[in-house]
Amino acid sequence: MEFISTRGGQSVTGAQAVVQGIASDGGLFVPREFPRITSEELEEMLSFDYPERAAFLLHRYFDEYDKDELLEALRKAYKKFEGEDPAPLVRMDNGMYMLELYHGPTCAFKDMALTVLPYLLKKGCELAGIRENLLLLVATSGDTGKAALEGFAGAEGIKVAVFYPEEGVSKMQKLQMCTQDGDNVTVVAVRGNFDDCQTGVKKIFTSAECAAKLREEGYLLTSANSINIGRLLPQVAYYFSAYLDLVSSGQISMGKKVDFAVPTGNFGNILAGYYAKRMGLPVGKLICASNKNNVLTEFWRRGTYETRRPFYRTMSPSMDILVSSNLERLIFELSGRDAPRTAERMTSLSSTGRYSVGTDELKKFKEEFYAGFASEDDTVECIYDFFEEYGYPMDTHTGVAMKVAQDYEESLKDDTMSESNPLVVISTASPYKFPQDVLYALTGNDVKDSFKGVKRIHLLTAMKVPEPIKAVRYKAIRFKTTVSPEKMFDEVMKFIG
Ligand SMILES: *Cc1c(COP(=O)(O)O)cnc(C)c1O
Repeated sequence: MEFISTRGGQSVTGAQAVVQGIASDGGLFVPREFPRITSEELEEMLSFDYPERAAFLLHRYFDEYDKDELLEALRKAYKKFEGEDPAPLVRMDNGMYMLELYHGPTCAFKDMALTVLPYLLKKGCELAGIRENLLLLVATSGDTGKAALEGFAGAEGIKVAVFYPEEGVSKMQKLQMCTQDGDNVTVVAVRGNFDDCQTGVKKIFTSAECAAKLREEGYLLTSANSINIGRLLPQVAYYFSAYLDLVSSGQISMGKKVDFAVPTGNFGNILAGYYAKRMGLPVGKLICASNKNNVLTEFWRRGTYETRRPFYRTMSPSMDILVSSNLERLIFELSGRDAPRTAERMTSLSSTGRYSVGTDELKKFKEEFYAGFASEDDTVECIYDFFEEYGYPMDTHTGVAMKVAQDYEESLKDDTMSESNPLVVISTASPYKFPQDVLYALTGNDVKDSFKGVKRIHLLTAMKVPEPIKAVRYKAIRFKTTVSPEKMFDEVMKFIG
């Protein structure tokens, strides 16, 4: 299938879209059209395991990749997860379902795509006839960085440079990244917040001067952030898989609509749910859950995206984002795929920090999505109550999603016209990845040491501690550099030089 830029300037093959990461006009690649999955095909997929479901769907987009090889790559990727099923669906006693996407090598949902991306990139280079080495630049609010490092460590012909906000990640996230093995990786702290990191990386991406300097060294830049379509499309599979699991376990009949609540930062996870719906999956509402940085909730309410506002550091750092990069793909769809208009809005965003959509577009947005946010206190209370009542521990990001999901269900009670659907909450991280905040939510106790937090949570909940969390404790810290945003490119040159 062909991929086009949201700003109209480029159309390329899937392989090229993955390797390039971002379109030459600064836009994001989107599929020329959404492949339709028929109800017969859905029926057929019921008997597939997770890698088979993912291969079936991904091949609809990446049809120049060999299907058997793709399946084999997916099998290999999801073998790195603990347990049989990389995306188990668990029924909660409050009637909701939890889709646990954190059983991968770095204990957060980013593993769902970042274990697959190395294959998509390598094969993509082969298919597109690209011989240069690749340099992956990653801006991370904590989880993407580690998942990219883990996915690409030791990969031949690929180097990975990760930038994270100095004060904007949990201690455990920082430890996970800074102890990473592999000669082809580097990790750098940036003085600033996640938006500063993301903007710095984007600047390097769109600078002809940087590209030329890198080319001299034999490197081609690409992205492992969710602006890369190769990050986004593997995520479509877990929406389908959760739905199929609901059908095959007899919880719903085929065709019944299901709602999904998604803790959102860069809008990548929830956008994959929207793509699944456009492909024909019976999805009802997509519930967009934010933390105190509720820029998306405000956008949903008023139709104006306003980034000039205070930035808060919260206990769900992977959602501490004001400039949500994948929203560009959604507003492209809402505008009826109007590329010039999308380009205009993105220009307005970078020059004035805001843009607005029209009444019709806002109406469409509200038909497909509900949006809400949870304050820090709401999140703590939700995690505490949920554990007290149902014995199920959640991480801080999932706590945000659960709180907003509950608010959504509450809002339906006032509205007798709305249908109520089964609701799946997407659980994006292991509670052990944010041990201090989760322990605080569960007990009110503060501990300084992450591993003390891990131990206390384990004693309290009896939940198994994931192997990767245990392992990180005894590893040496390899990366200690901190730079200001203007110096990011210098670090890149030092790294590859
Ligand atoms: C990245 C991340 C999110 C947000 O996902 P987006 O795709 O950026 O919306 C939520 N929770 C966790 C744990 C994450 O790592």
